[in-house]
Amino acid sequence: MSNVIERFLKYIQIDTQSDETPTSVPSTSKQLNLAHVLIEELQSLGLEEVKCNKGYVYAVLPANTPNVVPAIGFIAHMDTSPDMSGFAVKPQLIENYPGGDIILNAEKNFILSADAFPELQQYVGKTIITTDGTTLLGADDKAGVAEIMTALEYLVQHPEVEHGKLCIGFTPDEEIGRGADHFDVKGFGADFAYTVDGGPVGELEFENFNAAKAVVQFYGRNVHPGSAKGKMINSILLAHEFLSLLPSHETPADTEGYEGFYHLHRSQGEIENTILHFILRDFKNEGLENRKNTMRNAAKMLQKKYGQDSVKIEITDQYQNMREKIEPVMQIVDIAKQAMEAVGVKPKINPIRGGTDGARLSYMGLPTPNLFTGGHNFHGRYEFIPTFALEKGVEVILKIIEKSIMM
Ligand SMILES: [Zn+2]
Repeated sequence: MSNVIERFLKYIQIDTQSDETPTSVPSTSKQLNLAHVLIEELQSLGLEEVKCNKGYVYAVLPANTPNVVPAIGFIAHMDTSPDMSGFAVKPQLIENYPGGDIILNAEKNFILSADAFPELQQYVGKTIITTDGTTLLGADDKAGVAEIMTALEYLVQHPEVEHGKLCIGFTPDEEIGRGADHFDVKGFGADFAYTVDGGPVGELEFENFNAAKAVVQFYGRNVHPGSAKGKMINSILLAHEFLSLLPSHETPADTEGYEGFYHLHRSQGEIENTILHFILRDFKNEGLENRKNTMRNAAKMLQKKYGQDSVKIEITDQYQNMREKIEPVMQIVDIAKQAMEAVGVKPKINPIRGGTDGARLSYMGLPTPNLFTGGHNFHGRYEFIPTFALEKGVEVILKIIEKSIMM
């Protein structure tokens, strides 16, 4: 078994689920269990400046070339999604996958169905690592962690391979959107970086949504329905009217690719008070501004009709498209593309219909596109990763490092 597979299987044994509720850093102390394992490994590989700060693990592999070359960062997150348990993960290795359904758990009837997941077909004859159906697998993002660690091990064992300064960062709490919160960009010391946190082999991402959230509150007046004529204002119906003023075909279920959306994801209402929670997404800044204005205008219309105090809208920016920060240093995407091609992987450049820590790091001064891990179906029991994908991940990282000394 290759080292990257062995590492991956070791890391997924450590439960590192993050949790949105606590405000502590990291959100769950069990993430430190993996941090400590990684620190020990980094130290025994002989890396320098190995440290842990607020659950963030940092390390440096110093340059071994006399030439002036950029310092590159590689970043992966240690936590797993709160959506599904990551405790007592029991991976199954399906060797020489013959195609068809994979039974994850006969007793509970959890099946990785070839119909529902047609992408399985491309892995016929390969080895696939799946869950036993009771937990997630943790390829998101322990595959990224294992790939980075294995690339480092290779470089340490092959000092003849020339490389610049490599900066390593393993972060907590990515899955709850806090992975960049306490990242020490200055101390990290990289000119640019890659998160290794994408999906299937070949994924390369440097664009993501611009994001905002909106909370809209509606205030009504409750009167006995028998004598309500001209008096009652039903805030549930105000919310309804508000929704009718938004474009009806710009929801997540109606959009794909570069299309943005309005997404109503939570609502709660009674006569006197109704609240709607939205997220707004758009790849263009201007597009996001337009969406915000559409919502503000809808609120204004209702205010005109029902009074200034009938609607309150609060819009907060969340994150931005990293494209703006990557474009001036587009060579870092080109290098990743060339690296993939050089190891026989076809680059698939897609916009991320979400955010990444890399987007936030890019705005914190560290341009950070995202590389594939090789995994599929993150955050649930159907998560899986083909073993060759783990190996390709290592190869791509090493190739990027090799190519960067010519930058
Ligand atoms: Zn991830």
